[in-house]
Amino acid sequence: MARSTAGPIDLRSDTVTRPSPQMRQAMADALVGDDVYSEDPTINMLQERVAGILGKEAALFVPSGVMGNQLCVRTHTRPGDEVLIHELGHILNYEGGSAAALAGVQLRPLRGEHGQFDPADVTDAIRPAQEHFAHSRLVCFENTHNRAGGTVWSLPRMRAVAEQAREHGLAVHLDGARLWNAHVATGVPLNAYCALVDSVSVCFSKGLGAPVGSVIAGSAEFIREARFHRKKYGGAMRQVGILGAACLYGLDHNIERLADDHRNAHILADRLRGVEGISIPHRVESNIVMLELADRGVTAADVVQALAAEGVLVGPVDRTRVRFVTHMDVDHEQAESAGEIAASVIGAMH
Ligand SMILES: *Cc1c(COP(=O)(O)O)cnc(C)c1O
Repeated sequence: MARSTAGPIDLRSDTVTRPSPQMRQAMADALVGDDVYSEDPTINMLQERVAGILGKEAALFVPSGVMGNQLCVRTHTRPGDEVLIHELGHILNYEGGSAAALAGVQLRPLRGEHGQFDPADVTDAIRPAQEHFAHSRLVCFENTHNRAGGTVWSLPRMRAVAEQAREHGLAVHLDGARLWNAHVATGVPLNAYCALVDSVSVCFSKGLGAPVGSVIAGSAEFIREARFHRKKYGGAMRQVGILGAACLYGLDHNIERLADDHRNAHILADRLRGVEGISIPHRVESNIVMLELADRGVTAADVVQALAAEGVLVGPVDRTRVRFVTHMDVDHEQAESAGEIAASVIGAMH
């Protein structure tokens, strides 16, 4: 059953992709300058292009998705403010507590299926303007939703929530680390999602295959302020067009191919559905497959280990869940093979 080819099939995350020879060539050829002086032509081009694609006035290159989200949280809020976010949100669960540590805000978790919530959830959570309460300041979306299995917010539902937030004077941020996947999965234009929000962050280091890089976008004034915070957070870099070139390459070549990753996720899901006692708790809508193992009576740690021994790497999510993520370095055949290996290994565990 063990694979004969070199190296495991790595489905832990779409962050594990390595830059292709063509992407590396684009990086080597990049025109660069000092981006702290706003003199890196490649970064300037990237920021302009991404602002255009997302339909925002301005954009800013940042070293990571976490920093992008956190600069947006910081720029929208003042210490002591409250931010509404789904309880499974990346900003709440996977950013090292930085919203509290760096922006000084408290995060108020909202419930809902598939990482989503309704306009009424926002209304109910908004604090009255009284001295007892924090100021409700910001609502955060995540699309696709990582911890909710790569599920996609529909545009009408997102619009309804955003309008409710706006009506109450709250700002709206979109963690769009995988907004490319949402766009490819639904055909909804990127700028249609972004028109609903004041700020957005997107990642190039996941499905688009760049080694490093994220961009945030918003109004010119918002980005000016975020740029000031980027300096404070240590995210202002110098000849960083070398990284920006990889992001531009990803934009030009790797968006439409995300459909392959989505197909491969369905292949994996189809193989796994046949195994008794495991379930896929979220709709498979993009490049992530979550597996719930509780009814099988095995733990995520056991499954991660057993699959690794057979050359398939997957990520533990919690005690009884594991995550499979498809990406450009896993082809159709490997997805089939990983699905078969996983189904047979987990099917034999007890
Ligand atoms: C990956 C990811 C980020 C950014 O994380 P980094 O570790 O900085 O790459 C932000 N939000 C979501 C939803 C993500 O999946």
